[in-house]
Amino acid sequence: MQEKMSLLRDLQEIDQEISSIETAQKSYQDELAVFAAEVAEVQAMLDQLSAEIDQLRQDEAQIEQELLKKQDNVERVESRLPGIQTQKEYVAVLKEIDIAKKENREMESLLQEKRNEINILVEDQQEKEAALAAINQNAQARGRELNQLLTASGSQLEQQTRNRDSVAADVPKSLLRKYQGLFKRRNGLALAIARNGACLGCNMQLPPQLFNQLLQGNDLQTCPHCNRILYVEAEV
Ligand SMILES: [Zn+2]
Repeated sequence: MQEKMSLLRDLQEIDQEISSIETAQKSYQDELAVFAAEVAEVQAMLDQLSAEIDQLRQDEAQIEQELLKKQDNVERVESRLPGIQTQKEYVAVLKEIDIAKKENREMESLLQEKRNEINILVEDQQEKEAALAAINQNAQARGRELNQLLTASGSQLEQQTRNRDSVAADVPKSLLRKYQGLFKRRNGLALAIARNGACLGCNMQLPPQLFNQLLQGNDLQTCPHCNRILYVEAEV
């Protein structure tokens, strides 16, 4: 019995080591995923900005064309002035010039508005590009570290899994199954020390008879409260 317990204790130690390696690996992967998500988020904002800027630039080009037409129109109407014969015709042409100039001014202010909108978005775009560059730089540096950690923990995991299999091979199958079930259900603690008549897995008192049997070390004993497999530490 002592020998089996000793194997189980070795096994639990290795299994706990494996769990902590797996937890570490998960945290490395989570951290890498956070970088990827950040990059994707900023990139999506940049794509949208870029599409909006493209649209505004198309609008701007169209307004510029319109403005040229309005300017031509002012010149065309003004060119009629020298040939005017009557006062009535003169007043009519002046009025037409006024309207043409007004339209011209409106078009100019529309163009200015559009250009302001573009400038704001371009500024935003530059800020986001800088942010993306910073994230990428950070992600590359930390990403290299994380990948090294992943590689290192991958080989640790392989090593420990081999150790585990070799120890487990010497444990009787039914005991191994019992141990594995407990290890999962009891959060990585399938075995518990019994000391001063209590189970240190759940801190409950053990029936005295059970504790005595455990001290004799002939049979496998489990805690009636938490079901963990009990063992006593060798007297020092
Ligand atoms: Zn217990």
